[in-house]
Amino acid sequence: MELPFITPLVGKIVWLAGVIGWFIIRYPHDRRARRTPKARRYVGIRELISLAISASGLGLIPAVYVFAGAPRFADYPFSIVAAILGTAIFAFALWLFHRTHTDLGRNWSVTLEVRNQHSLVTEGVYNRVRHPMYSAFWLWGVAQAALLPNWIAGLAGLVGFGTLFFLRVGNEERMMLETFGDEYRDYMKRTARIIPGIY
Ligand code: SAH
Repeated sequence: MELPFITPLVGKIVWLAGVIGWFIIRYPHDRRARRTPKARRYVGIRELISLAISASGLGLIPAVYVFAGAPRFADYPFSIVAAILGTAIFAFALWLFHRTHTDLGRNWSVTLEVRNQHSLVTEGVYNRVRHPMYSAFWLWGVAQAALLPNWIAGLAGLVGFGTLFFLRVGNEERMMLETFGDEYRDYMKRTARIIPGIY
C-alpha cells in the first residue's frame, strides 16, 4: 500500500493517544469510585501483583519502547496494514471502554469489590458478554501488538492483561455468585465472558 505518511512513528503516536484517551475516559469514574461506599473488598496480594503485571504490559514496557526504542533486538518490520488495523481496534476499544463505564456506573471498581448498594448490570454492552470492560482491555492488547512492531513491547500487553484476566475472572464470578445468587447464575447462562457467543 502506498501511504508513505503512515510511519512507525505514527504507530507509536496512535498507541500513546489511545492510552491517554483511556485515562481521560476513566478519570471521572475513578474520582466517583473513591467516594462510593464499599460493602466488601477482595483485595489480596495476588490482586495487587496481577494489577502491577497488567500495568507493566499495557503501559510501562511499551512506553519504554515508544520513548527510548528499546529493546531494539526485538524489532521487526513495520506494516502499514497492521498500523491501520491497530488504529481501528484501539478506537473501538476506547468506545467500548467508555460504554462499560456508563453502564456500570457506581458499581465499577479497579479491584474486586461489592458496593453497599450494588446492582447487577445486565443491559447495554453487558447484554451479551459479562466482562465487556475486560474485552476492551484485550482489544487494547491486540491494538498494541498491531501498532508496535516489536515482539516484546507489542506482545507485553496481551501477556500482561492476560495474566490479570485469568487470575481474576474466576474469583470475580465467584464473588458475583455469592452476592447475586441465581440472578447471576441465570445471567451467566445467557452470556459469554468476553466474545459474544464464543467465549
Ligand atoms: N468484569 C466486568 C467489570 C469490571 S470492573 C467487565 O469486564 O465489564 C470490576 C467490578 O465490577 C467488580 O468489582 C464487580 O463488583 C463489578 N461488576 C462486574 N460485573 C458486574 C455486573 N454485571 N453488574 C454490576 N457490577 C459488576
